[in-house]
Amino acid sequence: MDELRVRFAPSPTGFLHIGGARTALFNYLFARHNKGKLILRIEDTDKERSTKESVDAIINGLTWLGLHWDEGPFYQSQRTELYKQHVQQLLDEGKAYRCYCMPEELELKRTKALAEKRKPVYDRTCRERTDHPAGKPYVIRFKSPMYGTTMVKDMVKGNILFNNEELEDFVILRSDGSPTYNFVVVVDDVDMHVTHIIRGDDHLNNTPKQIFLYNAFNYPIPQFAHIPLIHGTDKARLSKRHGATSVEAYRDEGYLPEALDNYLVRLGWSFGDKEVFTIQEMIDNFSFDNISKSAAIFNPEKLLWLNATYIREKSADQLLTLLEPFLKARGWVSSKDQTLIKLIDETKIRSRTLLELLDMMDYYFNTDIVYDENAAKKLFTREKAVHLEAMLSRLSGIEDFSRKPIEEAIKSYATGSSLKLGDVAQPLRLAVTGRTVSPGLFEIMEILGKDKVTQRIKLALDYISGNI
Ligand code: GLU
Repeated sequence: MDELRVRFAPSPTGFLHIGGARTALFNYLFARHNKGKLILRIEDTDKERSTKESVDAIINGLTWLGLHWDEGPFYQSQRTELYKQHVQQLLDEGKAYRCYCMPEELELKRTKALAEKRKPVYDRTCRERTDHPAGKPYVIRFKSPMYGTTMVKDMVKGNILFNNEELEDFVILRSDGSPTYNFVVVVDDVDMHVTHIIRGDDHLNNTPKQIFLYNAFNYPIPQFAHIPLIHGTDKARLSKRHGATSVEAYRDEGYLPEALDNYLVRLGWSFGDKEVFTIQEMIDNFSFDNISKSAAIFNPEKLLWLNATYIREKSADQLLTLLEPFLKARGWVSSKDQTLIKLIDETKIRSRTLLELLDMMDYYFNTDIVYDENAAKKLFTREKAVHLEAMLSRLSGIEDFSRKPIEEAIKSYATGSSLKLGDVAQPLRLAVTGRTVSPGLFEIMEILGKDKVTQRIKLALDYISGNI
């Protein structure tokens, strides 16, 4: 078994969580770095909580992030036969047994143990039982070692020793015939020849039980890497109250997959003080030597910063393609003309997300200009209307409506009237874009063209005369 094989094994009980995506990314990078294989396994044995929507969200999310898997997706719900065979194998080999203890009995024992300050582990009543009372419901338990210790050798956490006496004969098959998590994970890892298990450290306590099972199946113990979970800035486990936690939400807010990958890789992993990585650089440098042992802190500002970095590096052509679904959602029509490309180039530098980019260009797409209310109060006054009127006639007279002549017209009017450039430019900007912040005013005017610009100045004048 020379080939390195890892798996990402999500339970489809919700969207693809940021933490899950990071686990998938680490698996992906480790597989690629070592020229191994990544398996996608959908752990959908919990029929009540698993949904098709969630499976789709996971698959779409991984695809969007560019985390391609080599084998699968496999669905545990379709592998029941395999699990049954393995339960039978353990029964036949005397490594598992039927337990007929009633849930009420177990509950009583549990309460008693807790009251006596003992660990409430199963007391192994049925471990040596050989009779099979007909019609009585039972579960199947694994015969865990009763003494000694079990060492989990972890690439992140180091060596962790568990006391076998504290680990009970856990259930592998419930009374309704469904196998349990710890059991199916191991059967699948064995069947899929998994060599390395990379997952969240919330699974660390399951690991010794799983080691018992690998041993029972005579399978070499895989290498483990339990990654510390992601926390919010308040040190609590990352949850909705810290902001969006699903990959889909970030996609819909206009984050780029490269930015999210880059952000996720740095949640727990570092490579010197480098912050910006291409996927190839991540693959080339990834190893578990540089994983932090403590929880990573989710910092939305840093994600925005990275996203802005990636947006800036895209060409306007690429950004237009990325904007298409957002444009469609707003019912805005775009044609790939040079003016739009130019506008994107002017605007991208100020945008941290695709949505921001689109918002900042709404004056281009929207025929109805909506003025920023506060700005309109301040800038659309009788006094400023005089300047707007003057500019309307000067701009209308420009033959070659391009940046230079526009700039000259505005500047010469300001100088001639002993005004500051802003006194003229700000009301103009508001008239033309509806806002007070935009890329260079002269460029925008050129991009929008003479007709649109003059029409918008007229609209602003109407607005002012209607308001005063
Ligand atoms: N299905 C488990 C989860 O989503 C992961 C199991 C594993 O990686 O071993 O948390």
